[in-house]
Order: sequence, then structure tokens, then C-alpha cells
Amino acid sequence: MKTALIIGGGFAGCAAAHQLSFLDGWDVTLVEGSSQLGAGNRTHWYGGHPFTFGPRHFLTHDPSIYEFLNKYLPLRSVEDHVFLTYVERDQSFYNFPIHKDEIESMPDSEAINDELGRVTVEGVEGAKNFEEYWCASVGETLYDKFIKGYSKKMWAIDDNAQIDDFGWSPKGVTLKEGPRAAWDQAISCYPYSPEGYNPYFEIATEDVRNLRLNTMVTDYDIPNKTVAIDGESFQFDVIINTISPDILFDFCHGELPYMGRDIHNFILPQEEVFPEHVYFLYYANNESFTRLVEYKRFTGHKSPTTLIGMEVPSKNGRHYPMPFKSEYARAEKYFSEMPEGVFSIGRAGSYRYVVDIDDCIDQAMKTAENLK
Ligand SMILES: Cc1cc2nc3c(=O)[nH]c(=O)nc-3n(C[C@H](O)[C@H](O)[C@H](O)COP(=O)(O)OP(=O)(O)OC[C@H]3O[C@@H](n4cnc5c(N)ncnc54)[C@H](O)[C@@H]3O)c2cc1C
Repeated sequence: MKTALIIGGGFAGCAAAHQLSFLDGWDVTLVEGSSQLGAGNRTHWYGGHPFTFGPRHFLTHDPSIYEFLNKYLPLRSVEDHVFLTYVERDQSFYNFPIHKDEIESMPDSEAINDELGRVTVEGVEGAKNFEEYWCASVGETLYDKFIKGYSKKMWAIDDNAQIDDFGWSPKGVTLKEGPRAAWDQAISCYPYSPEGYNPYFEIATEDVRNLRLNTMVTDYDIPNKTVAIDGESFQFDVIINTISPDILFDFCHGELPYMGRDIHNFILPQEEVFPEHVYFLYYANNESFTRLVEYKRFTGHKSPTTLIGMEVPSKNGRHYPMPFKSEYARAEKYFSEMPEGVFSIGRAGSYRYVVDIDDCIDQAMKTAENLK
């Protein structure tokens, strides 16, 4: 038997355990610091309402990932979703991604149309940072209304020009034409189970011989694939890491920066609060929060009351790797020190903001492919 250690029991760690269970000859240890599997994707309950830590919408462009998860955790399509952004200076909610058909209703439509008339492919392709990219794509006025304040809040930065990786941001030379255009290519779902993704975490780890909850992996000697678990040292043939790579090397190249989140949940005395089909409300102004979600839109939960989640960017938790190339280069230094047989997957493990639930599954599949 070959031995594998999985560090962390979030989506990536559970998905990795699941993929290893399809291979022969692996003795798997999964170590999770908290008392439950799933991390932020775990469903908890408040006032009878199911919720996760912020919305955890399953979106993918890859039908095979959808089919895989759907086989173990039946998924309900949530194709009808609409997102709105509140623009205080117009005292209006508009669709997000920005809609062509709403521009005429904006008080500054003339300036916006002038700016859109100056949009060129060269301008967009030549952009060096997030601000330039958005201004070149939609003009300064729309950038200012929808994006500028939101992004500064999201990343706690003074200047969006600091963001030099922006491939993940949903924009384009042309604006979106319909309420769901940006998402039309994606498969969009949420688990049918009232327990959300929780049943998957159990299924995925069923064959793990040594599942340790409430346990932190410490004392990393990654070149020798040796770590301490509960103070005892163990060597493994393979390590699949899902936590920030700087921790594995005692921050020797410096600490990787992240944004965190505080989530405030509150119940309102109404069956539904958001307009029909609206799942998220984004706030692009001086509010301290970035967005609100009405959880029952995703969960399908029935109740005469409704649970709203408010996301406030903070330094609590290492949830969002900063989209700075200099920090990617720092992460690469850590990755380059990982010997053969050490894999680093998941959002923090990859140090990439764009790693979502579907990517965690994809990365777990690719890791297992390497172990065949
Ligand atoms: C607010 C928010 C909303 C999101 N919404 C969506 C969404 O709608 N759709 C989507 O697809 N994605 C969403 N994501 C992203 C997605 O949820 C993440 O990509 C995914 O959860 C990452 O899983 P992970 O396993 O890589 O990391 P984590 O979920 O961070 O799991 C890591 C685990 O490691 C454990 N751990 C840490 N240190 C140790 C240690 N030393 N020893 C043992 N265990 C340790 C932690 O307790 C944790 O359980 C969202 C993320 C956030 C923060």
C-alpha cells in the first residue's frame, strides 16, 4: 500500500479523497483542523434556515464535472438567476453584468454611449491592469458606477490599478445583452439536499482509512514528505495539500496575502424579500458590505421567513488570494520547492482566486490521474 496525506477537509481535500478511492492500493489519511468537513461549503442552520459561509453556487463550464458531482449529489438547476447592482448616484438597481438595454434609462446615457463608441479591441488587449481593462471595455462612467468602488472594497485597496491579473473578471468589449448572458454558457446549480453539499463530504471520504477531525497538521518537512499529526511525525509517499503553501515552508519567502470575509446573517419577517429571480444584490458604493444573498433562492428552502447573508470584506480568514502577479510569483517559489509526489490544490493551495468548487473537483481528478 502507498500512503497519501490530504491536508485539509474542505471541498478540495474531500474531492481528492474521493478520487483516490477510485484507485487501487492507497492508504489515505485526511486531516482537517475543524470539527467538520467542507469548510465554508458546509451547510449550517440558523432559525431553521440552511446556509453556507456566503453563497456557494455550483457553476461550471465543463459538463463532465457537473455530471460527476450530480451522480453523487443530485443538483438542481438554478438557471433563472439574476444579479442586481445598486448604484447610489442613480438611486437605482441595475442588472449585473451590465446590460446594454439599461443604458438608455441611465441619467448619463449620453456620456456612456460616447465612451462606448470609443471602445476598441486594441484598447482592451493593451490594458495592463484591472482599471485600464474595465475602462477600455465599457468606458469610465460605467466603470465608475459598477466596478470601481466594489473592487476597492472587495480587495481593500486604494487603487484598482494595483490588480494586474484580471482575466477572471466578467467583462468584454461588448456589453451583455440579456439578464443572464454572462452566465448562459455556464451550468448553474445547487444541491437538492436540504443539507447542501454535506452529503458529498461524507460520500467522498467514506474510504479514507484515517480521517482526523479537530486535528492540525504541523511541523512540515515537505522535501521529505514528513509532517506532524497530533505531535507525532509521519512520512508519506504522497501529500495532497489544500492550504496556503507558505505555511508548508514556514513562510520562508514571505507571507502570501489574502482577503477574508465576515458574513452577517439575519432573518426577515417575509417569505421572500428579493424580486423574483434575483439571487444577489451587489453594492458598488460606500457601504461596508459587497453583497447580499437571499439563501432560499439557492437552497429552495420553504419558510414564512427568509434568511439574508451580508458579506463584509475583512482580514478574517484567508479566503481570497490577492490577484497580484508579484504574489503569484511568490507562490511559485513555494510550489517550486515541492518535490515529486507533493501536490497543492484548491483555492488557497493553488493561490488563485479563480479556483471555485468545480475547479477543486477538476484539480482532484487531475491529481489522481498523476497517481495512476
Ligand atoms: C465567501 C465565499 C463565497 C464563495 N462562493 C462560491 C460560489 O458561489 N461558487 C463556487 O464555486 N465557489 C465559491 N467560493 C469558492 C469555493 O468555495 C472555494 O474555492 C472552495 O471552498 C475552496 O475549497 P478548498 O478545499 O480549496 O479550501 P477550504 O475550503 O479553505 O478548505 C481548507 C481546509 O483546510 C483546513 N485546514 C487549514 N489548515 C489546516 C491544517 N494545518 N491542518 C489541517 N487542516 C487544516 C481548514 O479548516 C479547511 O477546512 C466562495 C468562496 C468564499 C470565501
